[in-house]
Amino acid sequence: MDLSRWLTAAVAANNDWAKSYGSFEPRPALAVDDAEFAAAFGRFVERLADNYPFFHPRYAGQMLKPPHPAAVVGYLTAMLINPNNHALDGGPATAAMEREVVQQLAAMFGYDTHLGHLTTSGTIANLEALYVARELHPGKGIAYSTEAHYTHGRMCRVLGVDGHAVPVDDRGRMDLDALEELLRSHEIGTVVLTAGTTGLGAVEPVHEALALRDRYGVRIHVDAAYGGFFALLAGTLGIPAEPWRAVARADSIVVDPHKHGLQPYGCGAVLFRDPTVGRFYLHDSPYTYFTSEELHLGEISLECSRAGAAAAGLWLTFQLLPPTGDGLGRVLAAGRRAALRWAELIESSGRLRLFQPPELDIVSYFAGTSLTEIDEASRRIMQAGMTDAEDPIFLSTLRVGAERFARRHPAVSADADGARVLRSVLMKPESETYAEQLHRRIEQLTA
Ligand SMILES: *Cc1c(COP(=O)(O)O)cnc(C)c1O
Repeated sequence: MDLSRWLTAAVAANNDWAKSYGSFEPRPALAVDDAEFAAAFGRFVERLADNYPFFHPRYAGQMLKPPHPAAVVGYLTAMLINPNNHALDGGPATAAMEREVVQQLAAMFGYDTHLGHLTTSGTIANLEALYVARELHPGKGIAYSTEAHYTHGRMCRVLGVDGHAVPVDDRGRMDLDALEELLRSHEIGTVVLTAGTTGLGAVEPVHEALALRDRYGVRIHVDAAYGGFFALLAGTLGIPAEPWRAVARADSIVVDPHKHGLQPYGCGAVLFRDPTVGRFYLHDSPYTYFTSEELHLGEISLECSRAGAAAAGLWLTFQLLPPTGDGLGRVLAAGRRAALRWAELIESSGRLRLFQPPELDIVSYFAGTSLTEIDEASRRIMQAGMTDAEDPIFLSTLRVGAERFARRHPAVSADADGARVLRSVLMKPESETYAEQLHRRIEQLTA
């Protein structure tokens, strides 16, 4: 699709809609001269050049890429109206869109009942899930693995709940024996399983943890902020089906459409399997909720104002690339194949080694035979790649402790307390055809 054409159409659609309300006299206070704007815009574009090329397959670092053009047009068109999805009074159209996309997300995970909404981020979505968890198990702690996103520990402190970090196995997934030992203390009310850890993309054993839920009466929350859309590939491309199938039985789920759902930032989501948890959000707002007896999204979310435009962007994207195997699934499949292909190349490389095989689309790798050497090589390769004007590449690093390293690579000399390895998230479909080039370039930089 031609983005310029549809951005123009967005402005035209807004003008047509606005005209239906009749004309009024514009006031000078907000008036800006076009020549003045041109100058400011010039300075602005110059400032923005100080960025990394997230759109290009040369960028193989963090979880970053531009939104899909459909998301951009959807977001912008709605933003010209600027609805607030807090209340139906803030914009009924985008509130309805939000309910539809949340329904689509719930269906993707196999929930047959749900209550949910979009959030500003995965962090806020997880905060909401942990808040409900605390209300249901007051005085009890929350367990998550040492590989869980750092915000779980932080949000436990915000909520005044004891957070417990559970050790992981040699692939970076929660060790369920260690979890069970903790559960025997009966101090835990909720267990967070991460389906796709942020560092390595490890999928924790949700299916096995469910058995412990029944035995110890705990809640299971699945943090799938990064990994959630890989549910569309469960049982294909070497992604085991069991953990993803089990997500349907979790008590709550978080997924970030602003990571793998092609959206701009400002789009997370939380889903609860039991709609009656809405009671924990009960509040009265003297300012809002006038026009309708129907549910207002602000009545089931901790945040007040939220961008209706975020729901609009996701809604329009899902019209074209729905969260199904042949919609969005095909986008994720290309990144997954890129990770598998690159892992193969690394395994047969004389210079690079896999830190561990990729479970989703994150590839972790290193060069060197001691922790000191490895750390220095990671730093040097990343630096050299980013600063080469002719043929740059952009990577990221992950810091790994000596013990974690030794469990995967006992032959590596542990001459330091840890090392940075290189880490690439291959979340663009274009990475599939670029994997060999990327690999060759990194091998060059290793020399
Ligand atoms: C990214 C991420 C988060 C935090 O989400 P934000 O949208 O960055 O706030 C939480 N958990 C996991 C597993 C993540 O990957």
